[in-house]
Amino acid sequence: MSRLDGADRPYWEALADGRLLLPRCDDCGHWLWPAGHRCGACGHLGMRWEERPMAATIFTWTRTWHPFDGTQSLEVPFTTVLAEIDDCGIRLLGLLDDPDRVDPRIGEPISGRPGHTMNEGDAIPTILWSRTS
Ligand SMILES: [Zn+2]
Repeated sequence: MSRLDGADRPYWEALADGRLLLPRCDDCGHWLWPAGHRCGACGHLGMRWEERPMAATIFTWTRTWHPFDGTQSLEVPFTTVLAEIDDCGIRLLGLLDDPDRVDPRIGEPISGRPGHTMNEGDAIPTILWSRTS
């Protein structure tokens, strides 16, 4: 399955264009993630996509010291964060710009910029996170 044929297609297309779009119920306003076609809160069919700033806090993180399949383009060690996007509660995985390997703190504010990782010649859009404090 391609990342461009599912309910989250607008997310991937916007991220490739440098923007963060997230889905929201078109009726009750509940944020939906992963993207779907029906609201989990009210059952409404239909969503709208809203642009959000790439501002978040660290929900959790891990540092990878050994390459594994699909990560060959990343220099090890690399730090992955589960970032909770401000004011909507949606959590997204991304890479933390972590050149000094200072352990992140849960709840630490971070800001993102668009980037990509490579997998078998395919440029996959991602958010590259940096500390704001
Ligand atoms: Zn709803």
